[in-house]
Amino acid sequence: MVISEAKPAIPVAGGYLTRKKLLKNLETIGNGAMINALLDSMRASSPTRGGPYDAQDHNSWIVRHPSALTEFEEITSASKGKQIVVFLDYDGTLSPIVNDPDRAFITNEMREAVKNVAENFPTAIVSGRCRTKVYNFVRLSELYYAGSHGMDIKGPSKGHRQTKGNQTVMCQPAREFLPMIDEVYKSLVEKVRYIPGSNVEHNKFCLSVHYRCVEEKRWCELADQVKRVVKNYPMLRLSQGRKVFEIRPTIKWDKGNALEFLLESLGYAESDDVFPVYIGDDRTDEDAFKVLRVREQGVGILVSKAPKETNATYSLQEPSEVMHFLKRLVEWNKTKPLIN
Ligand SMILES: [Mg+2]
Repeated sequence: MVISEAKPAIPVAGGYLTRKKLLKNLETIGNGAMINALLDSMRASSPTRGGPYDAQDHNSWIVRHPSALTEFEEITSASKGKQIVVFLDYDGTLSPIVNDPDRAFITNEMREAVKNVAENFPTAIVSGRCRTKVYNFVRLSELYYAGSHGMDIKGPSKGHRQTKGNQTVMCQPAREFLPMIDEVYKSLVEKVRYIPGSNVEHNKFCLSVHYRCVEEKRWCELADQVKRVVKNYPMLRLSQGRKVFEIRPTIKWDKGNALEFLLESLGYAESDDVFPVYIGDDRTDEDAFKVLRVREQGVGILVSKAPKETNATYSLQEPSEVMHFLKRLVEWNKTKPLIN
């Protein structure tokens, strides 16, 4: 028997796909990305803990994106005379990345740190998740919450004499997409449920398909199923986060827009007197880092242990360092009048 070429068969619903056939499907369905490129991208979207990378690369990356703790004084002195506004991503920034997204809890110590920050500066949580889900994790009514990648924004209920759960909706630019998102959610659940470990999360204005718990040999197949569903909805776009596919409306609205909207709401639309500090770990946070670069205001801080291409200026390695940074910020603010 002659084996001409290694063509591993990939199991799919109702049969098997050869690598070649799957590649053809992906090209037809998606943006023409090659399987290997797709897999590389899926792997790169979340470097494994302690994964191999060149120590020299890491050192040069740290020089370009120094630790926000090491450069704390540089950051605070740049903020002199300006109002600091704090923006925090949730997953991987305040909470550790965990296998079950429903169990991405923050510690009481972190909650306390965020509460203290909010007592000192206007503070917003900006997440890809459903806003109410993030609120249920954080449970601090003094914060601004921007869920669904900023497509669902509400202001703090505390201090506004409003009863809990009766916050004023400030911004929902993708409201008309709700029925479509519901429909795609049902479709995705149906299409990927036979792939063990896959998890479709409904984030109200957007969807997430998590593959953190899916065997790597089935990633292509999962991507194929997701693309097959999304291709029927040209008004939706597909992107990738940390071991997650994100599906959201094509409207030009991302975490960067949410940041600008919140600054505007706080009265800093055209102001030079504001110093936004945005801390996040994901690709979707890059939109906010970019906005800060363009505005030449404040600082972007990427949470990452591994070198990553980023528009952030500084870095922190993990949520425990974020907490340390937040505590220092509060301490600094309390002692600031004595220094000045
Ligand atoms: Mg994150």
